[in-house]
Amino acid sequence: MVKVQVLDKVFEPYLDAARIESGIHRIAAEINRDYAGKKPLFIAILNGSFMFAADLFKEISIDAEICFIKLASYKGTKSTGQVITAIGLDMDIHNRHVIIIEDIVDTGKTLSQFLPQLKHQQPASLELVVLLHKPDATEFPVDIRYLGFSIPNKFVVGYGLDYDGFGRNLPEIYRLLEE
Ligand code: 5GP
Repeated sequence: MVKVQVLDKVFEPYLDAARIESGIHRIAAEINRDYAGKKPLFIAILNGSFMFAADLFKEISIDAEICFIKLASYKGTKSTGQVITAIGLDMDIHNRHVIIIEDIVDTGKTLSQFLPQLKHQQPASLELVVLLHKPDATEFPVDIRYLGFSIPNKFVVGYGLDYDGFGRNLPEIYRLLEE
């Protein structure tokens, strides 16, 4: 891997295809073991998780379903503050074993707001599978059941993750080069 430029910024190689693949392989084996016979429903959060979700789901060998949603945040009232809603969740999750697929957890704000909404619909269980986690950036702790990699608090792109909309098509993960 070599340095890449995305828009006005230069990024250095961080996680290559082999490491991503082995992380996914490990997670998939755990899920295949833990959810055998449970027919889990994966809910992948777009846009960032599309590549991770596709590669992970190919390694799921038990009966399972997948759907894709987008999270939209808008300004609520003074008391509710920023509100997050799911777009495209057309599956009934009541009594289902639900596994949320997310690309990256940074402050944890997005998921800590969204997960309680899903719990309201009373799934049989609700767990998170996350490719990248920045523990040093945590402001709202979320419980990640299956994690690919813990990474330092640096901005990353590639493998579905974007910088201002670009860089998602890079097949591997790069981090911002600080000069
Ligand atoms: P959180 O709510 O956990 O602070 O943020 C989660 C979202 O922020 C992610 O789904 C992702 O869209 C964005 N994000 C956080 N860190 C990064 C990063 O290093 N690179 C990219 N491309 N997006 C990030």
